[in-house]
Amino acid sequence: MDFSNDLAFAQTLDEADTLKDFRSQFWFPQHNGNDAIYLCGNSLGLQPKQTQEVIAGQLTAWRNYGVEGWFEGEEPWLPYHKKLAPLLGQIVGAKPEEVTVMNSLTVNLHLLMVSFYKPAGKRYKIIMEGGAFPSDQYAVESQVRFHGYDPKDAVIELFPRDGENTLRTEDITSSIDTNAEELALVFFAGINYYTGQLFDLKAITEAGHKAGAYVGFDLAHAAGNVPLQLHNWGADFACWCSYKYMNSGPGGISGVFVHEKHHNDQSLNRLAGWWGYKLDERFKMVPGFKPELGADGWQVSTSPILLMAAHYAALQLFEKAGGIEVLNDKSRKLTAYLEFLINDVNAQIGDELFKIITPTDTAQRGCQLSIICKHSGKAIFDYLVAKGVIGDWREPDVIRVSPVPLYNSFADVYYAAKYLLEAAQQFK
Ligand SMILES: *Cc1c(COP(=O)(O)O)cnc(C)c1O
Repeated sequence: MDFSNDLAFAQTLDEADTLKDFRSQFWFPQHNGNDAIYLCGNSLGLQPKQTQEVIAGQLTAWRNYGVEGWFEGEEPWLPYHKKLAPLLGQIVGAKPEEVTVMNSLTVNLHLLMVSFYKPAGKRYKIIMEGGAFPSDQYAVESQVRFHGYDPKDAVIELFPRDGENTLRTEDITSSIDTNAEELALVFFAGINYYTGQLFDLKAITEAGHKAGAYVGFDLAHAAGNVPLQLHNWGADFACWCSYKYMNSGPGGISGVFVHEKHHNDQSLNRLAGWWGYKLDERFKMVPGFKPELGADGWQVSTSPILLMAAHYAALQLFEKAGGIEVLNDKSRKLTAYLEFLINDVNAQIGDELFKIITPTDTAQRGCQLSIICKHSGKAIFDYLVAKGVIGDWREPDVIRVSPVPLYNSFADVYYAAKYLLEAAQQFK
């Protein structure tokens, strides 16, 4: 598609956008009386307007029923999570019984590693992307130590080749092959939080399984951003948060995927709690843990219904919009327009001040672009903030911006680039 750097062009794209009405279903932070240009869905998605009402509905149920709310009312709490699983399954490419919601992300990563990091003999290493999100690094290191190994030896981190910013799939798969006999677990993000690179999860799964290792993913930046096929790829496990691209509120409940091939595997360790017990016998309260079949059997604690309500409200919008594939069609166009505009800003100032490190190949990215500012980065970022552009800043020199198809417009992207140009001219 031929893009053009002018507002009328952006507005024409917005008029033709079949998803344009969804924008009005979200609350935007205000800047000088107008909607901020919110490009920070990679960090915290905006609040859907219906969230308040859906949560209020559960507060009312609590008020009216007290403890009976677990079984009574229009939406009893005991099976409430079952409403979420099919919607989430659509988004991550899983069967409903392969998905559950519980806890928060890093907690779930630990719980899943209890099941799927089973070091034994010379097979004790974990291979992962270098520069992973810090929480994942800490989780992996502490798991390795917990099993008595030294992270320096047991964690293999893969970094891009010299002079490159992102990993090549062939380098990932060949490193997995090379280390095959020592690998217990292949663990990758779906999308790296810093570079915005979307990894080839199918290829990584295949390579990991060929090596005889389990394969798991942290989909914090991928779930709700790009289409996924967890079931068909055969990934063993995955987890993600709901507050980034799934708009389910700060610290919102996390999602978990466990492939059905593991549902009956009694050899997997689980840190059990009563909420994972077979639902039809849970309230017999007898000794001896019997897990519910499916991902639900990994639950530990009583469902946080208010968080689940926020998640339910937000997930309904994905379904209403026609699903993740439809959203991704718009997403690719939005991000391509942003990329075009940033390159145009460089052309106008006659300098490659802004270097996009996220891959250009749409198969290797979601909506986020990570932009290295060759100089004056923080001043430029602060200029954007003063103009009402909300993105985020990562030391030492990266601005991340993520136009989201549910609530961002082509005009948002146009304005972000306009202010970027103004900043570049000011801080030459
Ligand atoms: C956002 C993010 C987290 C945050 O985890 P919490 O437990 O929700 O704080 C962890 N890992 C990755 C890859 C993330 O992007």
